[in-house]
Amino acid sequence: MSRITPLKTSSLGFPRMGKDRELKFALESFWKGKTSEADLLATAKQLRRDHWLLQKAAGIDIIPSNEFSLYDHVLDALVLIGATPERFGNDPVSLTGYFAMARNSTEQTAMEMTKWFDTNYHYLVPEWTSGLSFMPDTTRLLSELREARALGIEPRPVLIGPVTLLLLGKPAPGVDITLLLLRLIASYKQVLEALHAEGVTDVQIDEPKLVTDLTPWEKQAFRSAYKQLAEVPIKLMLTTYFGGLGDNLSLAVDLHTAGIHIDAVRAPEQVPEVLTALSPNQTLSLGCVNGRNIWLTHFAAVNPFIEQAVESLGTDRVIVSPSCSLIHVPHDLAPEKQLSPRIKSWLRFATEKLTELHDLATGNDAAFTANAAAVANREAAETSKNAAVRNRLTRLSEQDFSRKSPYPQRAEIQREELNLPLLPTTTIGSFPQTADVRKHRAAHKHGHITDAQYDTFLRQATEDCIREQERIGLDVLVHGEFERNDMVEYFAEFLDGFAFTENGWVQSYGSRCVKPPVIYGDVSRALPMTVRWSSFARSLTNKPMKGMLTGPITVLQWSFVRDDIARKDTAWQIALALRDEVRDLEAAGLQVIQVDEPALREGLPLRRSDWAPYLEWAVQAFRLTTSGTEDRTQIHTHMCYCEFEDVLPSIAALDADVISMETARSRMELLHAFRAHGYPNEIGPGIFDIHSPRVPDVAEMRDLLQLALDVLTPRQLWVNPDCGLKTRAWPETIAALQNMCAAAKELRATL
Ligand code: GLN
Ligand code: ZN
Repeated sequence: MSRITPLKTSSLGFPRMGKDRELKFALESFWKGKTSEADLLATAKQLRRDHWLLQKAAGIDIIPSNEFSLYDHVLDALVLIGATPERFGNDPVSLTGYFAMARNSTEQTAMEMTKWFDTNYHYLVPEWTSGLSFMPDTTRLLSELREARALGIEPRPVLIGPVTLLLLGKPAPGVDITLLLLRLIASYKQVLEALHAEGVTDVQIDEPKLVTDLTPWEKQAFRSAYKQLAEVPIKLMLTTYFGGLGDNLSLAVDLHTAGIHIDAVRAPEQVPEVLTALSPNQTLSLGCVNGRNIWLTHFAAVNPFIEQAVESLGTDRVIVSPSCSLIHVPHDLAPEKQLSPRIKSWLRFATEKLTELHDLATGNDAAFTANAAAVANREAAETSKNAAVRNRLTRLSEQDFSRKSPYPQRAEIQREELNLPLLPTTTIGSFPQTADVRKHRAAHKHGHITDAQYDTFLRQATEDCIREQERIGLDVLVHGEFERNDMVEYFAEFLDGFAFTENGWVQSYGSRCVKPPVIYGDVSRALPMTVRWSSFARSLTNKPMKGMLTGPITVLQWSFVRDDIARKDTAWQIALALRDEVRDLEAAGLQVIQVDEPALREGLPLRRSDWAPYLEWAVQAFRLTTSGTEDRTQIHTHMCYCEFEDVLPSIAALDADVISMETARSRMELLHAFRAHGYPNEIGPGIFDIHSPRVPDVAEMRDLLQLALDVLTPRQLWVNPDCGLKTRAWPETIAALQNMCAAAKELRATL
């Protein structure tokens, strides 16, 4: 297999946190004032050094710089081009100023945060106003360049492309976006010139927007931007990822950059088209090791693409690369001790992916043989297959996806069953996860307290929470979710087909990391997951108790999903496991069951034309979860966002009896969309923001409810907070819920 001439390899970005999340801890101790700015900067410098040397040692030829960040690479891009939000002042950005933009303080609300394409990474949203300075600040860019050079590495600096950056931001009303683009380009040009002056010859410029639907204006923006950037004698690697170029292929090629990087993992079908479309001097960076998932690369499947590329372009014009930056996968697999060795042999984290790149590029025979054996071992693993679940999936019929009666009939029955007042009050599930709760969980995990001691503690916390809810006067109670570490791992621990890492952290935003479980096989329910806690809670009160579950799409989205069967099949397997749980909860006397789907929307594909099939199977997964119930059981769902307009028909198709969502900050705006759509079922629009300790008074909440009543019928309306209360403290939680109940009562009296 050995290649006569090895190909070049590149890395597009490496996880920043460090192998033991050193950056996280350095940031948090700096924010608490325990360490100095110099300490933080020293840790950051050490991490960059470690990561550069690690990439070099792995045999990577093209190593990136300027992709490290103390908080977020989009914010860094704004600092670089002189476009940080005006409301924070225009001074050169100090570290304090930098974190003020990134994190809420008492003086200022931070920049808004949103998801980076379809990943779980959150970036800070640029604020496009007309007074931005666009004075580049290349200090950090150049100092990192020198740091790398001092280590004997000539790095390829990474920039977020100007058009992607522009489109990721929010223009203020009245801002002339064309003028903004021109100023943005001018600033980028100066940045490139500064790099050129330092002797840099190559730059990676990320334009992932090229894999999304673009308007004619946006396409034109690409043309004007790259025409001007081409005036600087630097070779640009136009880097696209998370999908195929599709109808933007000729646009991308015509930007005349020295090279194009494509994602051949998400969109392998584009390889032949791209090879034909490239102009004679363009280099292809072939993204063939998955930067979004943790499975080993199937060398035999990927190698033909590499060979095709070499055949049509020659060895000089092909670079072997990961599909995207590796920040979306954990740092290093080697230290994992608890994973079964067999499952571990199927996994590759960032460090191991570098080795894969090198092996692919050199055609290392031994590595190809070992890879084929590992792939075969994974395919043959009986432990990943569950015939009963697969059979059950093939036997599903239409009625498994529908409640027994339509909503209007169910609603009648539920009204009798539950006997709730108009405008019933409830919460979204979690109550404060106090330091005491977290301390006990950690003590239990590390074996410092026994199962029995932990259990006693949780029972007491649950009972206290229920008594508190009774005192407040809520109508539908919850158990408080004290036993849960998070929304997915808690469930995954009861499910077959899941594995867990000890240190598989991935940055979510700033210093926050998540540790997604790994779905390696067919999913089935080994044991009931929540029945014990929900039954216990139910036994403590005469009020209706709500059972709480995480929905199938959220479990899927927040895990590393296997790549050997369709996502839909995994989602439906999870749905079947949850369906059994829902039935068991019903049998245990839970009259109300909530299935949370906060991640339903984030699963949407990047291209509009791919939405319909996704929404279809995602909605079906929810219905499969909830439809095994009697009419008398009231199904709730919860979503933590308010961008619904474009997916409302699918939300309605969930056919949940009650949906709660986040509306307090947008003042119920989204209810108009629900009305316009003729949404028939019940709705609990959140009437207070749970992100802040602020307690709105009764009048404020009553006004919000009144706004909701302008749009909804009294029978449709529920009263609840925006989301779960786990991040709040008890005093403000009690005060806010008391005001919420008082507001509902006042309004009820007027109906
Ligand atoms: N039931 C969960 C809670 O209350 C829902 C959280 C969420 O939607 N993200 O915490
Ligand atoms: Zn929520």
